[in-house]
Amino acid sequence: MSESTPRIGALEAGGTKMVMAVATPDGTILEDTAIPTTAPADCVPQMIEWFAARDIDALGVAAFGPTGVDPKKDNFGYILKTPKLEWAGYDFLGTLRRGLNMIPAGYDTDVNGSCLGEATFGCARGLDTVLYLTIGTGIGAGVMVNGQLLHGMLHPEAGHIMLHKRDNDPGECVCPFHEGCFEGLAAGPSIEKRWGAKGVELAERMEVWELESDYIAEALTDYIMSFSPQKIILGGGVMKQEQMFPLVRKKVLANIAGYLDTPELADIDNYIVPNSLNEMQGILGCVELGRRALVAAQA
Ligand code: ADP
Ligand code: ZN
Repeated sequence: MSESTPRIGALEAGGTKMVMAVATPDGTILEDTAIPTTAPADCVPQMIEWFAARDIDALGVAAFGPTGVDPKKDNFGYILKTPKLEWAGYDFLGTLRRGLNMIPAGYDTDVNGSCLGEATFGCARGLDTVLYLTIGTGIGAGVMVNGQLLHGMLHPEAGHIMLHKRDNDPGECVCPFHEGCFEGLAAGPSIEKRWGAKGVELAERMEVWELESDYIAEALTDYIMSFSPQKIILGGGVMKQEQMFPLVRKKVLANIAGYLDTPELADIDNYIVPNSLNEMQGILGCVELGRRALVAAQA
């Protein structure tokens, strides 16, 4: 390892693109790039080549899932069952590490990475129990509880919690697994199918965002009751409809109906918030995953 400031490699592995960066442990990005997510045989060698040319001391990876995140299990760092068939059962982290001289590496889900990015460098700095939700092509939640990213038996799949379909919903749940889950009722593709246009084209249609915010508020209420987060951060393409924030906040408070009385809920505008790092929360979370792996390896 170099004697000067460590160089941390960061890889945010998404379903459509792979974002790579080299950073210092304080989150200063020195260099970054992105390539499309193609089959692993094609894109993983490109990533190894990029990092190998940049003399990194550790790597942090946050990957699309489902994926194995428990270092004690055989499937650690593997992509598990996924509709992207070339990736199903692929030893992602192992292949990267073998290509990079087995440097220390941290690995988690994409949404846990974003949660860690916000908790380390962003609006949730200093907090230990934080929920990061992305509402985009799918819905996923990263959860930090008492300072630890939540894994459990696999990792949270909080986009697939059951929701009650509204009587005035002209659409349907589009999740192939569930009859009425949050992702199937409220992610980008369900909005598009229900209203016949992409979310970005529906900005002026109040009924779209009234219904959408109903579902989001119902889900957030369940997360609040389950995890007691100190802050909830909402990201992803659908949340670019910022007019939803006041609606979601109001509806969450209505759902809670006075049952909880906390300073956080009393300051709801600072409790349910947009992501704060200019879309860098994911890659910065990877930097922190890499930094932690380096520290652990030196201990
Ligand atoms: P991904 O989830 O694939 O990583 P995004 O978070 O950008 O990517 O989510 C893409 C989804 O968000 C698409 O369904 C798209 O229609 C929707 N979306 C993107 N931008 C907007 C917007 N400004 N308003 C509403 N929906 C949007
Ligand atoms: Zn589902």
